[in-house]
Amino acid sequence: YPGANAAEVTVNSILSRTVREVQSLPVLIRETASIQDAVVMLFMENVGSLIITDAEGDLAGVVSRKDLLKVTLGNSQAAAMPVGLIMTRHPNVITVSPDDTVAEAAKRMIRHQIDALPVTVTSERAGKWEVVGRLTKTTLTKLLVDAEQGTAGGKEDE
Ligand code: ADP
Repeated sequence: YPGANAAEVTVNSILSRTVREVQSLPVLIRETASIQDAVVMLFMENVGSLIITDAEGDLAGVVSRKDLLKVTLGNSQAAAMPVGLIMTRHPNVITVSPDDTVAEAAKRMIRHQIDALPVTVTSERAGKWEVVGRLTKTTLTKLLVDAEQGTAGGKEDE
């Protein structure tokens, strides 16, 4: 990047990385699991959303903490319902490929106002997607902080 300063080079090097290099393990739950199970998993795994899979293990949908809050508030029956009933359903789920860049993933999160993207590849089953990872805004924030600490001007918390 001719003429770019160190900070610009750092940001560009983050944005041009592939999703594969920075993704985390997906946090998955079956669509037949109860809403109660989904809430417990959200706390146990310390995440903001869950990726939901069908009987074959392919992507069925996603559910966020607000989806779960909305359905359980004032409805004591909801906890026993299958999470598949309230999920945002494939093909409305926004995903990224492991080969996409971090820049592309970040743009999708901003454009669709979501905090996390399932990382998917085409499944052996026609029209289906296999979930291979997840990418969150937290991951992107960590990449920035790690890069800043790796540069000469970076400060350690001490
Ligand atoms: P929260 O609702 O807890 O703030 P999000 O901002 O991630 O969490 O989700 C907002 C809404 O978008 C929810 O209804 C959720 O089901 C949906 N959503 C979350 N992730 C995705 C995604 N990758 N693709 C499509 N919709 C999503």
